[in-house]
Amino acid sequence: MRVAVVGAGPSGIYAAEHLASEYQVEVDVYDSLPVPFGLVRYGVAPDHVSIRSVRDKLAQTFENPMVRFRGNVSIGRDVSAEELQEHYDAVVYTYGASLDRELGIPGEDHQMSIAATAFVRWYTGHPDAIDFSEYLTSTADVAVIGLGNVAVDVTRILIKPVAELDQTDIPQHVLDALARSTVRRVHVVGRRGPAHATFTTKELKELGEIPGVDVIVNPADLPTDIAQASAGNKIVARNLDVMTEWSQREPEADKSIEFHFYCAPESMDLESGVLRVNTMKIDQEGRLGPTGEKKEISSDLVIRSIGYRGEGLPGVPFDQATNVIPSLESAVIGLEHSYVAGWIKRGPSGIIGTNKKDAVSCINTLVAGRNESSATSAEQIDQLLADRNVAVIDFDGWKRIEAHEKKLGQSRGRERTTVHNLDELIRIGLGL
Ligand code: NAP
Repeated sequence: MRVAVVGAGPSGIYAAEHLASEYQVEVDVYDSLPVPFGLVRYGVAPDHVSIRSVRDKLAQTFENPMVRFRGNVSIGRDVSAEELQEHYDAVVYTYGASLDRELGIPGEDHQMSIAATAFVRWYTGHPDAIDFSEYLTSTADVAVIGLGNVAVDVTRILIKPVAELDQTDIPQHVLDALARSTVRRVHVVGRRGPAHATFTTKELKELGEIPGVDVIVNPADLPTDIAQASAGNKIVARNLDVMTEWSQREPEADKSIEFHFYCAPESMDLESGVLRVNTMKIDQEGRLGPTGEKKEISSDLVIRSIGYRGEGLPGVPFDQATNVIPSLESAVIGLEHSYVAGWIKRGPSGIIGTNKKDAVSCINTLVAGRNESSATSAEQIDQLLADRNVAVIDFDGWKRIEAHEKKLGQSRGRERTTVHNLDELIRIGLGL
């Protein structure tokens, strides 16, 4: 049996691992990028070194001769979903959710209003990233909209002293841009309150530990009874403890992170450096509604961090309302021998580990439904890609890229430095 996995992020690699180790199935893991690891490389913040090192554990899967990495192959462009179905016994879609969501408010199309997804791509060195280097040199106030872990990551990277980043693998041009940054204040803006935020406590707490940066929380936004407000949710209770301690601190630094809870973005006028919000309240029934009052938040740059969104792939069913591939127990509805796991199945939530359980259950469903193999040989799909002049990067190619990144980093006194240029990644990956 031979299976194709589309997307070499954690979900795809966990799926490949289970197929190869548990069921001795041959797997080809495709990715449109020349490097594997998905959001572990292009989502996890550079200063979260230990989470990024999950990469090394994931890489072990490709050491198994049953598993091949097929990087720099775009499904839908280089090879179609139909062709994958012809060549493999089953196809597993695990390509995640990479698009951003919009607020739909006036002024949002201004150049200085950007998506967190784009900003994250920039600071992690994604080859398709927009270069935001110059955005930070004309900016003192940044508003980050959203109360999730991505908002926390973006806030931390914006305000953290660069000395704390230079031992990470952050791309050199990003480190240089952050060193020139004029950002002084980050305003974290949420339409609901501290008890409704989706931060995890470890990530939230880090904001209060950044040297030279105050964290400002208005005590009036905090519930007086944490036990009641958290309603048995331990993460919420811990978050409220952290924020309560912050609300009692005296500001003393010249940089700050200020939380603006119960503020729903209404419009932005970034020529004048203003984000306008409606202040909100939650009524007795728990419904969120405007108080009727407005507030202005100084913002030279607005970064909306309101969630990721999945996109469809030609030839694969897609639910436009929920932005996922529709499935029943991981089997794609409306497409034979096709399965789905990760964010493109469940939507953009959960931590890396959440995807392991999901991928394992997906593969168990796949294997339970398998028939006699009708897959073509590995040589046939390789020949098809070669005939189309697709420069496939394999796992040895990744190792060449990794060795190059380590050498590059060490030449600058860093452990490794991420290469962000696509042509360069492909050239190094091909050993040219
Ligand atoms: P998220 O946790 O879903 O947070 C999205 C935020 O956007 C929420 O606060 C939401 O508020 C807000 N929002 C949505 N629509 C809005 C609107 N129209 N106006 C104002 N606010 C709006 O998503 P995320 O931060 O993108 O994170 C995605 C997943 O990755 C999460 O599971 C996260 O934990 C994970 N992640 C983990 C780490 C880590 O572990 N270190 C790091 C990064 C990401 P409402 O609640 O009011 O809708």
